[in-house]
Amino acid sequence: MSKSYKIGIIKGDGIGPEIIDEAIKVLDAVSVSQGFTLKYEEFLLGGSAIDETGVPLPDETIQGVKKCDAVLFGAIGGPKWDSLERHLRPESGLLGLRKEMGTFANLRPAMVYDELVNASSLKAEVIEGVDIMVVRELTGGIYFGQPRELQEDMAFNTMVYTREEVKRIAVVAFDIAMKRKKRICSVDKANVLEVSQFWREIVEEIAVDYPEVELTHMYVDNAAMQLIREPKQFDVILTGNIFGDILSDAASMLSGSIGLLPSASTGKGVGLFEPIHGSAPDIAGQGISNPLATISSASMMLRYALGENASADKIDDAIKKALSEGYRTGDLGDYDAKEICTCSEMGDIVADYSSK
Ligand code: NAD
Repeated sequence: MSKSYKIGIIKGDGIGPEIIDEAIKVLDAVSVSQGFTLKYEEFLLGGSAIDETGVPLPDETIQGVKKCDAVLFGAIGGPKWDSLERHLRPESGLLGLRKEMGTFANLRPAMVYDELVNASSLKAEVIEGVDIMVVRELTGGIYFGQPRELQEDMAFNTMVYTREEVKRIAVVAFDIAMKRKKRICSVDKANVLEVSQFWREIVEEIAVDYPEVELTHMYVDNAAMQLIREPKQFDVILTGNIFGDILSDAASMLSGSIGLLPSASTGKGVGLFEPIHGSAPDIAGQGISNPLATISSASMMLRYALGENASADKIDDAIKKALSEGYRTGDLGDYDAKEICTCSEMGDIVADYSSK
């Protein structure tokens, strides 16, 4: 009997529904050709959930996604819901969902497609061939540390990591490095912060279990410079919450387009796979959005949640082929486009190439 997986689908708001539809089209094409079955179940989140249920994260969504093998998510938010109180806004629904799913590892690839080197603000020779995976710890560090307080004449936050938190994120990074070029650069501020010294020691301990992986360490200020100066030196970057927040955004801009990059939040349970961009309300409903970041997120889901690596490779190759043949959505129309496609046409092309 062929393998079957249950996929939670959260379309969300704005361009969310149209980009997710294209990712499903591609997933269907590749699963049929590779002989496994995907069963989808849709859940509400964000603005569409507010409109239908009055809350951004309904209970059915929390319970439902936990029973899935993985969740594919579009984007949430938009001006319609911006005036609501903070805890009722779409974004708090997404933060709540990540918390409920226990996703402590954020994976943010930054790769540059050869055909789009001119879309970057950096020189082609600097970014050609860049392929970085930033592994960011997502639920610890200074964003969550106690005590924290805003007083009249002072304010403070606390950067704290436990041994277990560092160990589990390091294991994620080493496992990923084993599937890539087997190089990890752990980024910290160990020259100034005790918590970074501690981080470094634990990462060194985990490295003993992965003798094939080459581990280096870098201070975060230098890492920021090196990402711009010579990004090709990096394979996997392993780092904590606040440093990863900043570095992953900087790394994502190497590619030059927000419409191309996927991400994953994983942990002990079900993983959440989503494009790095938002719901793009300015172009929603026009059918012109770029679905490639979401299709690429679907590929990450196959690789990291379901272990269907051959199918993930097929999707990645199909995206490259579509770009190398000059197909572009409007956002990339200025970069060697031979044909400008709609969101749906791009989905058709990638689905067709993925199935071969
Ligand atoms: P955005 O990423 O939605 O859009 C920024 C710019 O990039 C816009 O001009 C948009 O048209 C363009 N763009 C984004 N994705 C594109 C795509 N796939 N194809 C073509 N062009 C694309 O960021 P924003 O405008 O700051 O935020 C809009 C809404 O999205 C807000 O409500 C924000 O809170 C929300 N948001 C949601 C998420 C999420 O769901 N994970 C992330 C970021 C922002």
